Amino acid sequence: MDAIFSLPPALMILYAEIHYTFRLGFSLVRTDFPEIIADLPWRIEPGQKIPILCLIKDADQYPIFLDEIVVTAQWGGKGSLSRSFPLDPEPIKAHFWHRILEFPHEEIPPGPVRIDVLFLGRRRGRTFRFYNDNYRRLSHASLQTMLACDPLPNMSDWHPGDPHIHSSFTEDQAEFGAPPEATGQMARAMGLSWTAITDHSYDLDDQPRNPLAHDPELKKWRELVRRISNLNQREKDFVTLLGEEVSCGNARNRNVHLLAYGVPNFIPGSGDSAEHWLRTEPTLNLREALEIIGRAGGLAYAAHPEEFGSILEKILLRRGPWSMKDYTLPGLSGLQIWNGTRDHGLARGLARWIQLLLRGKRLFIIGGNDAHGNFNRFRQLRLPFIALRESGKQVFGRVRTHLYCPGGVSHEALLLALRKGQAITTDGPFATFQVQNERGQRAFLGQSISGQEITVEILAKTSREFGALERIDLYCGEIGGREKRIRNLRRGRDFQDQTKVNLKERYITIRRSSYFRLEVETAAGERTWRAFTNPIWINPAPGIEKDDEYQG
Ligand SMILES: [Zn+2]
Ligand SMILES: [Zn+2]
Repeated sequence: MDAIFSLPPALMILYAEIHYTFRLGFSLVRTDFPEIIADLPWRIEPGQKIPILCLIKDADQYPIFLDEIVVTAQWGGKGSLSRSFPLDPEPIKAHFWHRILEFPHEEIPPGPVRIDVLFLGRRRGRTFRFYNDNYRRLSHASLQTMLACDPLPNMSDWHPGDPHIHSSFTEDQAEFGAPPEATGQMARAMGLSWTAITDHSYDLDDQPRNPLAHDPELKKWRELVRRISNLNQREKDFVTLLGEEVSCGNARNRNVHLLAYGVPNFIPGSGDSAEHWLRTEPTLNLREALEIIGRAGGLAYAAHPEEFGSILEKILLRRGPWSMKDYTLPGLSGLQIWNGTRDHGLARGLARWIQLLLRGKRLFIIGGNDAHGNFNRFRQLRLPFIALRESGKQVFGRVRTHLYCPGGVSHEALLLALRKGQAITTDGPFATFQVQNERGQRAFLGQSISGQEITVEILAKTSREFGALERIDLYCGEIGGREKRIRNLRRGRDFQDQTKVNLKERYITIRRSSYFRLEVETAAGERTWRAFTNPIWINPAPGIEKDDEYQG
């Protein structure tokens, strides 16, 4: 093992680990302090307290006394509120230490709020004070949040969540996430009702404190399973799904990422771990991984499949793209095409998904953020050991998947909705639709129905936070043919209401096996937000063509 070349993956999206120095023994960001970080959700659902996450890492190597944390909120021109949180007199010596301070919200009006977290303490007899984090060369700028005036746009029986987040169990040379317990609390405060923790297969099989050493006993994995199960027993109306981001080999034997949900056992995959120089061979190929997931009763989505990494990742980590061969393997439920930002990865993902639908593949889409902690903004190593960077990308909960669980959220209900494609993906508005055939039968997202004269009932909703409804597009794809936008509804022309639209498009004639799907856009000034639904399939000739995949 040659540590110099154990470069961290270039797509790293976590809190920055600053203590790891390679054998060069040199790092401009290294200090002899533990990492001290404050974080909070980027939005707060009405009625929720403001949870301030304080995280200290590596205090086992660099113990400190933390005497007091002072949180100050400022809003408007001169609104201000401060609270002091005294702490235990014992020194902090844990590898991972965290507290969630509950800051009152009652006195703060809805709208943007700036929050500063002052850490006061001592190390080696000297006092210190840090604002917001102690990373050198970062801004220490105030954290920003938004006390929402309305709940997330949604409908009853639908549950927003984030299907792709990393926790503190993703911890390696360059990055680490927040503890699963903190993730749940932050998610709930921002208005989510579930999240799936999907740590990397190549991190879950490491020795607890040594990311470069494999642990045949899988202590980390077992600990994660235990913690998530405890968490779910404690929480009501919030579910943390156990997931895994499995590295496995595509058709060309290059590493791709697969999200596995509902699998009780660990699935190995360390091809792109960067833990062993030049050992980048995938552990399992996609087909094998999908078989394992299927046998275990779980389900699988391709993780950010059309987001291409850097040249360095291709060369050093043998990462590669998904091909049609990969997407059409049995056992794949769908694609996580939206990964935190509206970028080329989403545009290509959407194009690829449509291509697959037109070939008759019944695949679904979901959206998440691939956040590693980062509830507010994103801090990571840019060039390892030289500089850190911050940005607003890949922040937890920005892109959400709403799942239809009519009996309320539970582990089983969420998995069922993911399996059946009863999901919509959005960074703002809520949108769904159902169809009715000439005999009055109905079908819902992810389902299929027979019929030739189809009525489509559309529902779209937004709130002041996510702009006004501007555009509702209904698409129809003919299997084996092309996808067309068959309705292009605009506010002012086809509907008037800014916040809620419920309309019927009657008697759309279907001649070939087809699907419908919906896209909705809202806008406020320059900013726009978007929602995508999963399809409903229509079969014009019952009994002749099966509901199944088109064989063309
Ligand atoms: Zn990934
Ligand atoms: Zn990930």
